[in-house]
Amino acid sequence: MTSTAQTAAATSDRALAQAWAVLEAVPDPEIPVVSIRELGILRDVRRAADGALEVVITPTYSGCPAMSQIAEDIGMALDAAGFAPYRVETVLAPAWTTDWITDDAREKLRAYGIAPPTGNCGSSEPDANTGTKQKVIRFVPRSLPAPACPRCGSKHTERLAQFGSTACKALYRCVDCREPFDYFKPY
Ligand SMILES: [Zn+2]
Repeated sequence: MTSTAQTAAATSDRALAQAWAVLEAVPDPEIPVVSIRELGILRDVRRAADGALEVVITPTYSGCPAMSQIAEDIGMALDAAGFAPYRVETVLAPAWTTDWITDDAREKLRAYGIAPPTGNCGSSEPDANTGTKQKVIRFVPRSLPAPACPRCGSKHTERLAQFGSTACKALYRCVDCREPFDYFKPY
């Protein structure tokens, strides 16, 4: 490798690290206390063959209305930091799962008043034959433990509606403190 190529590679790596840092700060448009990286929406930041920056995102569910907003926010953050040219690529497989939400983000959700998805939702189960993880599509609602109240921690909660403020959340109420809250449904 020539010294020129080495310098170019090092510059490129530094630019990628900077782009990651910029994008890690982009908040989720629906839940601004967590970033798109913490939710697992930001999958990759890489250099395409043509030299452009390529940002890979995966929607939390297909048809999520926030995705165009997220792509726009990413564009604004990269423009502001001078990262043009870049592309935002939406990748649907593997499908996003609540398992991708980081532990930090789960705590932030709770502090924000949203019950985080309960543990590992088990939606990505290793295939018995190949051992590769596959998204299991379920048509029958599973009996998951009720989420604890994000405010008082009580386990005595009841579901009021399958859909809360957005389709990916359900509306619950705490039986003890009587507060309604959103539950980020595991899937
Ligand atoms: Zn409560």
